[in-house]
Amino acid sequence: MSAIFAKNEKTEVFLFDCNEKIGKKIFISGKGRCNITNSKDISDFFDQINHNKNFMYSSLYSFTNEDVIKFFNENGLETKIERGMRVFPKSDKSSDVIKVLEKVLIRKKVNIILNTQIEDIFLDNEKFVLKSKRGLEKFDKVIVATGGMSYPFTGSKGQGYKLLSKLGHHITDLKPGLVGIDIKEDLRKYAGVSLKFVDFKVYNKSNKLIHCEFGEMLFTHNGFSGPIVLKSSKYFNNKENFTVSIDLKPRLDRNTLDLRLLKEFEKSKNKSLKNALSNVLINSMVELVLKYSSIDGETIVNQLKKSDRLLLVETIKNLKFNFKSLRPLSEAIVTTGGIDVKEVDSSTMESKKIKNLYIVGELLDVDANTGGYNLTIAFATGHLAGVSCLRKEE
Ligand SMILES: Cc1cc2nc3c(=O)[nH]c(=O)nc-3n(C[C@H](O)[C@H](O)[C@H](O)COP(=O)(O)OP(=O)(O)OC[C@H]3O[C@@H](n4cnc5c(N)ncnc54)[C@H](O)[C@@H]3O)c2cc1C
Repeated sequence: MSAIFAKNEKTEVFLFDCNEKIGKKIFISGKGRCNITNSKDISDFFDQINHNKNFMYSSLYSFTNEDVIKFFNENGLETKIERGMRVFPKSDKSSDVIKVLEKVLIRKKVNIILNTQIEDIFLDNEKFVLKSKRGLEKFDKVIVATGGMSYPFTGSKGQGYKLLSKLGHHITDLKPGLVGIDIKEDLRKYAGVSLKFVDFKVYNKSNKLIHCEFGEMLFTHNGFSGPIVLKSSKYFNNKENFTVSIDLKPRLDRNTLDLRLLKEFEKSKNKSLKNALSNVLINSMVELVLKYSSIDGETIVNQLKKSDRLLLVETIKNLKFNFKSLRPLSEAIVTTGGIDVKEVDSSTMESKKIKNLYIVGELLDVDANTGGYNLTIAFATGHLAGVSCLRKEE
């Protein structure tokens, strides 16, 4: 986006990418469908930004979510709005998003230099020298948009942090954001089980509830992932003890759930408890709930004690696990932390330390929830850096 908006008939723009094609992370985004932005009111975006939301005011208001949609629509990409106001290409293909960016870059005659990693950036008489396998090349302005450190096979391997720290920029702590968690219990046999309409609760070491998220989650080989777990991941850190709890029936309070079980057990008096519960929970969760409440699933329902029924209610409402660690940065959707935004002018994206150097996208210490917000941050900051470069030329 930076290269597109920095280019006009008077400027010459070079876009370097270490990959053989542009937009490799966009390609895998949104499970291959690319959630390009969100169509909620732009003022609602700020609640979705986890770090340094104030830094984003100028860029998001100068290139809003509507501008993102308009940009793609005007350049031939039809879009659609899905649950949570998330905007996707109508084709469900992230490759179509990349095709649009490529098409506009070519139309605007941006020089796209692929397979070329920038190894170093340094100043020589107010010009920037970029070192790559092409040798040393001089430029008046540089926009660094090298992304974060997650999914390094897409090209964002964290090199931007090195390039910019060498130029005097400070990098805040880099951590995985929007990432799954590992737990201490062995739940391998449930890997792949997906739960819908559950509450995922996070408790701190004092057993205080610090977060609750409703929606969909997934059991993995080592713990949990899926939308509500990713969204909750910002509440964990690897230094403290946390417990998590899954409420399998969040819409029913304990009394109502007990009545629901009583009704079910009334119908299935002579059946095994295991069978009766399968009308209330998916089979894998019947097994887990029975295991956690230490009740024999073969018990005939009419022999079940009241105390056991109440224990089942409690377990269904509060399946507890011990947090072990966050999954690594390489598996995170975003990198939290990055270039300290105090060192960047939010109205232009220009470095406050080095004139004519611009820093954009995930490289900055700004990150947001899932829902199209992270790409919008990249598009908006990229746009602002591009137009700011041009403004300086005028
Ligand atoms: C699995 C996954 C799914 C996601 N889905 C979504 C989604 O649906 N919606 C959403 O909003 N966000 C999503 N995100 C987050 C979003 O993709 C990123 O936040 C966004 O791509 C960041 O854009 P960027 O331009 O800052 O960096 P990137 O997209 O990472 O681009 C950086 C580019 O710089 C190049 N590069 C790096 N270093 C060098 C160097 N030294 N020399 C030359 N080139 C270099 C890389 O090759 C890369 O092409 C997802 C992320 C992941 C990992």
